[in-house]
Amino acid sequence: MPSTMMLLGVLFGLLTQACTLPVKNSTGVHDGKVRSKRKYSDEMLDRDEMNTMDQILEVNRRLRGPRGLTFREGDIASSFARSAITCPGNACMWQKSVDGFVYVPFMLSPLYDDMDRITIETGMQDIASGTCIKFVPRTHQADFLDIQPRYGCWSFLGQTGGSQVLSLQTPGCMWSGVASHELMHALGFVHEQSRSDRDQFVSIVWRNIMPDQIHNFRKHVTNNLNSPYDYNSVMHYGRYAFSEDGGPTIIPRPDPYVPIGQRDGPSNLDLHKINVLYNCGVTN
Ligand SMILES: [Zn+2]
Repeated sequence: MPSTMMLLGVLFGLLTQACTLPVKNSTGVHDGKVRSKRKYSDEMLDRDEMNTMDQILEVNRRLRGPRGLTFREGDIASSFARSAITCPGNACMWQKSVDGFVYVPFMLSPLYDDMDRITIETGMQDIASGTCIKFVPRTHQADFLDIQPRYGCWSFLGQTGGSQVLSLQTPGCMWSGVASHELMHALGFVHEQSRSDRDQFVSIVWRNIMPDQIHNFRKHVTNNLNSPYDYNSVMHYGRYAFSEDGGPTIIPRPDPYVPIGQRDGPSNLDLHKINVLYNCGVTN
């Protein structure tokens, strides 16, 4: 469970500001009015759990790209030689086998302990159980995920070819939902609020975003797979992602109180989108 201080760290960016937090006013929380940033801050203080993306951004706060890597949107790795967002001709998808399954080979670092391995494999199983994706220990395959406890929780977008690192730091990234999130990046998915049609479903509160993090809220030209916008996606930023002063940066519309993001793992729509992208209902 995240400590209260960790939660406050996400809320306000700097732990040193935590002492200035207003005392929660229980009489003001349920008045049903949408009127100010304070309202949302109170709502956040009522929560005792962070969602998957909140946790990732907390762990990655000081993430800097090592050796020729940059990071977009907090946790998508990109080498300078390769565009991180577009996959022309679906070149970044994993190959489908003749038996209808998509086998994604992986290696797990020996630095992980048994509990870490169970957590990561649960994240894999949560995807595999609802789709035609199968994560399999690498034997001889040339293209595979090299899962390591480097600094931070991050992945490349889609298949890069050859060995590709997917970092799940321990213990910070040891939630099965975080593993599923990074694995979905490796399958080719961007963050839900980056969708080309997101402005119909969320308002981005630009003035509340840390100025040097505004680039993380760009929209992308995305294939939305004829799927509805999914506030419950494990790929959705939290309401306070990259907030400068504790105010919300993403507000659902038209209903601002719809919960966004979660920590359990892929949503039903996440699984549906994997099935559509990889033609899971169709065998070759
Ligand atoms: Zn991500």
